[in-house]
Amino acid sequence: MKEFELIRRYFTDQPVTRKDVVMGIGDDCALIDNGGDSYVAITTDTLVAGVHFPKETSPRAIGHKAVAVNLSDLAAMGAVPSWISIAITLPAINEHWLQEFTQGIFELTEYYNVQLIGGDTTQGPLSITITAQGMVAKDKVLYRSGAKNGDYVFVTNTIGDAGLALAAINGDIHLSEKDFESVKRKLDFPKPQVLVAQMVREFATAAIDVSDGLLADLHHLCEASALGINLDLDNVPLSDVLVNNVSKEQALRLALTSGDDYQLIFTVSATNKVAVETAMTHAAVDYTCLGQLNPSKQINLFFEGEAFEVASNGFQHFS
Ligand SMILES: [Mg+2]
Repeated sequence: MKEFELIRRYFTDQPVTRKDVVMGIGDDCALIDNGGDSYVAITTDTLVAGVHFPKETSPRAIGHKAVAVNLSDLAAMGAVPSWISIAITLPAINEHWLQEFTQGIFELTEYYNVQLIGGDTTQGPLSITITAQGMVAKDKVLYRSGAKNGDYVFVTNTIGDAGLALAAINGDIHLSEKDFESVKRKLDFPKPQVLVAQMVREFATAAIDVSDGLLADLHHLCEASALGINLDLDNVPLSDVLVNNVSKEQALRLALTSGDDYQLIFTVSATNKVAVETAMTHAAVDYTCLGQLNPSKQINLFFEGEAFEVASNGFQHFS
């Protein structure tokens, strides 16, 4: 059973009985209505050593990433991050490790004015769980389900670099030291797109962060909005490092399926397409239009004019 099926079967089917729960399971964050003009947005993410990051990852990177992946989910709702609590399971007390780990955490929380408000420490295999909370104006929430037929789909920066770093760490691909450092930085120190989300939430209709791979997250957005897209794979933004080190097909497979990118996908109406250009130019963030949503409820992939599908072992022509 896949993760999402499991969540659906055992958790999502639980009815929401409290009136203050505006959004329960099923988006990047839950939303709580405490009265006032804003909702509290809440998300939880766990990172397990050897599963979500390679065991040799630096403690500073682990701390940074544990916060960043949570802030990325807050960003995807249009929320401004406010508070985090941390539960850490440590194999042993290592003060040097903790010093670096907390440095990684506080670098991000200080930048975003986020307060650590609690947590728990236990002994066991290394694992970090963070719950992050933020605030979002009730009329500015970016739901996955808000996209409309004909909306344009945008994504920030490039996709697939973290996947390339992981492939290199696993010994599947050899990279020069310079290229490896460049993509490993993206894997270890993802930048949550909080500021971009604050700008585009003024006019965007929907958003989701790219954590599971472009295809999976685009699928979540399309499913929630009951729409589809013809995705021309030539439009998928790939870094020079990625393109220069693997074949185009491998690069696309990494971008579509490997995840860990923490970029932002957002949708806008045709009328607001020009507003994206203004906002992103001011934010000095690269962005790419992936195409336009249609009523098909399917993601159809095209590469050099031909229909493609992604299999677990790579790309395959439709046959
Ligand atoms: Mg997410």
